[in-house]
Amino acid sequence: MTETSFQPRFQGFDCSGPCGGRFDAREPRSVCPRCDRPLLARYDLEAIAARLTPSDLPRFGTDLWRYRAVLPFASSIALVRLGEGGTPLRPLPRLAEELGLRELWLKEEAGNPTHSFKARGLALAVNGALAFGRRGIALPSAGNAGSAAAAYAAAAGVRCRITMPQDTPEAFVLSARALAAEVRLVPGTIAEAARALAEWAPAPEWWNVATFREPFRLEGKKTLGYEIAEQSGWRLPEVIFYPTGGGTGLVGMWKAFGELFTLGWTEGPMPRMIAVQAAGCAPVVRAFESGSDRVEPWADAWTLASGLRVPSPFAGELILRALREARGGVIAVSEEEMLEGMKDLAEREGCFACPEGGAVAAALRRLRASGEVQPEERVVVFNTGSGLPYAEAWRRARANVGGAAR
Ligand SMILES: *Cc1c(COP(=O)(O)O)cnc(C)c1O
Repeated sequence: MTETSFQPRFQGFDCSGPCGGRFDAREPRSVCPRCDRPLLARYDLEAIAARLTPSDLPRFGTDLWRYRAVLPFASSIALVRLGEGGTPLRPLPRLAEELGLRELWLKEEAGNPTHSFKARGLALAVNGALAFGRRGIALPSAGNAGSAAAAYAAAAGVRCRITMPQDTPEAFVLSARALAAEVRLVPGTIAEAARALAEWAPAPEWWNVATFREPFRLEGKKTLGYEIAEQSGWRLPEVIFYPTGGGTGLVGMWKAFGELFTLGWTEGPMPRMIAVQAAGCAPVVRAFESGSDRVEPWADAWTLASGLRVPSPFAGELILRALREARGGVIAVSEEEMLEGMKDLAEREGCFACPEGGAVAAALRRLRASGEVQPEERVVVFNTGSGLPYAEAWRRARANVGGAAR
C-alpha cells in the first residue's frame, strides 16, 4: 500500500474502546492492536469544513462518493465503483396516515448494487483492501454481505472466500458464486461460519472484511447518515428505526451525525435511534434493557431475517454506546409481526421489503401504539434490501400466518 492511496484530511484510526489507542494509516489496520476492539477512522473535520460546504457536494455525483471529502481515499486513485448509495428517502403516506404520524419516510436501500445496503460497506472495504495492498478478501455472511463482497471483489480483480450458514437462502449462495466468489456452507449460524473461515482463509493472505474486523465498512455505512441528513434538508429526523444485526449501520449513522455536528452542516440533537431485532435473536435488546455495557451471546439464534441472525455482534459495546448517546431504544419483534410488517410495506406502499425491513415496520407500529413515538415526530424507517432473495419468508408472509390466505 502507499500513503498516497489516502486523502490528506484522513488522519488514521482511533480505538473505539477505553484503551484510547490512536494509530496512523501507514500500515494495514484491522482492529485495535492493543485491545482487539473496532477502529474508527479519524479526519481533520475542521480543515474539511474550511474548504467545503454542502453546496459543493453535487460536483461529486449522486452515489455515496458524493461524500468523498469525509471518506479515506485520495481523489487521484481509481476507485472500484458499482453505483453504491444515493438511494431515495421517500415518503410512506399511507402507513403514516394509518399509524397517525405527520411524516414517515423510508430509506429504500434495495436499489443498491446486489440489492442491499451491504454494498455501501463492502465498496469501502474492498477499496480499502486495495489501498492496503491486499489481493484476497474473506468474510462470513448470512446473506447480503456475501453477494456484495463478491461483486466488489470481482470488479476489483481480487479473490474472495465466503463461509455461509448452511440454511442461508439459496439466492445469496448462488449470487455470490455467480460473482466468482468461493463459497463454503457451514452448519450453524454466522458465528460458526466465522470460525470455519479462520481456518480456510487465514490472515495475512486473506484480508478479513467481516463486520467491524476492518475499519472501512463502517465508513461506507456512515454515508447513510449523510444521505438522510442531506435528503432531509440538513434538518435531522427525530426518530430512526434500524434493523440491527452486526450494527454497522447504526454505529455508522451515529458516527456520521457526530461528524456532521463538528462540520457544522447540521445541528443536534441526534435522532433517537431504535435498534430493531428479531425475538429469536435479540442480544442487543437484552443487553440494552438490562443496562449492561456488554452484549452476551444469544443461544440458538434463529430468524427468517438472516441479516439479523447475529448472535454475538463483535461491536456490541460500541452499539450500546451509540444507542445511549442517541437517547435511543430497542425492540424485538416476533416472526409473525415481521411477516405482517413486510406485507404492510408491500401492500400499502409498493415496497417489496426484506424481512429486516418488515421487522422495522412492525417495530414502528408497536412503538406508535405504546406512545413511545409521537404523532408530530419525523420518523425514518429502513428497508435494507430487496425481498427477492427471501422466497421462504415471502411464501410464509403470503400464507398469511394466523389468517386466511390472500
Ligand atoms: C446485514 C443486514 C442487516 C443488519 O445490518 P448491520 O449493519 O449488520 O446491523 C439488516 N438488513 C439486511 C437486509 C442485511 O443484509
